[in-house]
Amino acid sequence: MAGKKVGVLALQGAFTEHEIALARCGARPCQIRTELEIEAVDALIIPGGESTTIGKLMLSFGLLEPIRRRVKEGMPIWGTCAGMILLAKEIVDMEQVRLELMDIAVKRNAYGRQVDSFEAELEVEGLQPSRGVFIRAPYVERVWGHAHVLCRVKDKTVMVREDNRLATAFHPELTNDLTIHQYFLRMLN
Ligand code: GLN
Repeated sequence: MAGKKVGVLALQGAFTEHEIALARCGARPCQIRTELEIEAVDALIIPGGESTTIGKLMLSFGLLEPIRRRVKEGMPIWGTCAGMILLAKEIVDMEQVRLELMDIAVKRNAYGRQVDSFEAELEVEGLQPSRGVFIRAPYVERVWGHAHVLCRVKDKTVMVREDNRLATAFHPELTNDLTIHQYFLRMLN
């Protein structure tokens, strides 16, 4: 894992925080904005932000197909929050440009206005307890195929793994906790 080059899609949203967390884990983070940069990384993170904006920018920058191809060839990918929405094959009651790489149906802004954001303890199968921040977060309503639920919070699915693909409804990069980043980096081995 040490020294692995991990790209963070840097079109919009919380990409700097992921870079800091990756560097603290001993990986080599880099910002991704072009197809050429996608070819040069060992793994990719799609950060939180506004999923419709990030999707439109990925389309106009010509990044959708190159990312899909690399992931299908085995490159690990992780989407946090808006990134999870962009990985989903289905979005409940909505249509928007996205990667469609995971067998999950995601509901956007799912916790409602009264709980715009909250921090919660994460009990992930096989990991020490950790923490995540939820900001206008989605949750996963349904999984199928090879998608496997790793964590639930408030009775909702918030973390799913499907082979080389990982999705979390929360932002671990907004806490000091490196548990989930370390988990993702182990997916590179
Ligand atoms: N609400 C945003 C969306 O639907 C996601 C929020 C986030 O990434 N923190 O795209």
